[in-house]
Amino acid sequence: MDNIQGQEASPQVVIVPSPGMGHLIPFVELAKKLVHQHNFSVTFIIPNDGSPMKSHRQLLQALPKGVSSVFLPPVNFDDLPPDVLVETRITLSLTRSLDALRDTLKTLTDSTKVVALVVDLFGPFAFEIAKEFDVLPFVFFPTNAMLLSLSFHLPGLDETYSGEYKDMTEPVRLPGCVPVQGRDLVDPAQDRKGDAYKWILHICKLYNSAAGIMVNSFIDLEPGAFKALMEENNIGKPPVYPIGPLTQIGSTSGDVGESECLKWLDKQPKESVLFVSFGSGGTLSHAQLNELSLGLEMSGQRFLWVVRSPHDEATNATYFGIRSADDPLAFLPEGFLDRTKGVGLVVPSWVPQIQVLSHSSTGGFLTHCGWNSILESVVNGVPLIAWPLYAEQRMNSVLLADGLKVALRVKVNENGLVMKEDIANYARSIFEGEEGKSIKSKMNELKSAATRALSEDGSSTKSLAEVARIWKDHKK
Ligand code: UDP
Repeated sequence: MDNIQGQEASPQVVIVPSPGMGHLIPFVELAKKLVHQHNFSVTFIIPNDGSPMKSHRQLLQALPKGVSSVFLPPVNFDDLPPDVLVETRITLSLTRSLDALRDTLKTLTDSTKVVALVVDLFGPFAFEIAKEFDVLPFVFFPTNAMLLSLSFHLPGLDETYSGEYKDMTEPVRLPGCVPVQGRDLVDPAQDRKGDAYKWILHICKLYNSAAGIMVNSFIDLEPGAFKALMEENNIGKPPVYPIGPLTQIGSTSGDVGESECLKWLDKQPKESVLFVSFGSGGTLSHAQLNELSLGLEMSGQRFLWVVRSPHDEATNATYFGIRSADDPLAFLPEGFLDRTKGVGLVVPSWVPQIQVLSHSSTGGFLTHCGWNSILESVVNGVPLIAWPLYAEQRMNSVLLADGLKVALRVKVNENGLVMKEDIANYARSIFEGEEGKSIKSKMNELKSAATRALSEDGSSTKSLAEVARIWKDHKK
């Protein structure tokens, strides 16, 4: 345990993120704000799902004084079938870490004044431990208000609708949100008999015992959803605090100055490049990789593409940012790299995304709709092509395309493929034509709104200050 001694002066906040870099990144930004702006000490207690966690360690080591971290012992998943949904795996990595979490929290509360325990969307199992030590149980929801609304309403939906949600003929109407088809709900809700659904339903009920829920979104991004969620406080739901957008400020990618892709971007015209990336671990099938390559080529558009080996052929599967050892470039169509040289740049596995999205040559982002990627696009005003893959990403794409109208959503055919002709069209339309212009102008409005939310007097700044006040008043 680093650095626990000597932190008695500031009240202590304990953060317990779920495994996965996408979950850790916004928490790190939250921790920085808590230390710098509100004078808390922060300890990360990290459940270990057995992955190497090298990037987690790198990210946490770079944090300022006042932030320390403890990695819990790895949990054992030998009893799980190989095809278990990622949501079940994440949930079990938390439930199986509870004893170790209790021991660590005991050590911390013995030596420091711990005021709050903050978990993310999978973590409310830890609330019972928080209560044992008189610590306020909080959630930091690393995604949007729309998903939080689904979490509040899923138990009710479960009671009133008996079939599979994907067969619903009417969309689900969450208060203040854009309607969403049952087939676009989160992955675990696509199989109501599955373990992952049962876990999610259980977690949704546990949210009711939170002392508060912070959300990585902001009021102007989802005004209707936040208004409704705040009103639900009157009917016994926990108070909701929009505190976003919390996006990475630095990079997770080592020496960014040396990055080949940034040097390449430097040479491209302003807002001319389509950035193509599927988050920290998203992969496509080989057939889809082929269509995407040909579609990008057909578009004639400049592109920067982060390629991973296809999930149906890689010998080392991708999971949570553990990159496949296969060479992803070997899976591209023959001659593709030569034919697109100069117009496109293909980078295996990873780029410094924040720097790419804030680069003046980047003019569009084809994204898997992970919430961090979306917020990073919003703060840089980059128009989107929404290509959701898993988790809550289809819901995010509905919010972006139907609600906010800042994205073109890809069409998937009956074979589960997005075809090259369509890809070429999206890639052109995001840069040219009326729809592209309208998306760009709406994105610029959101960018300004995000800046306002985070300004000294902005809605998200005030919301986080309110949470900090509640925490500081605890155990006074
Ligand atoms: N990321 C990055 N470089 C990459 C891919 C991803 O820096 O090549 C970062 C990205 O900036 C974002 C995070 O990894 O902060 C991915 O989070 P997101 O919620 O978008 O998707 P997830 O990986 O959780 O599916």
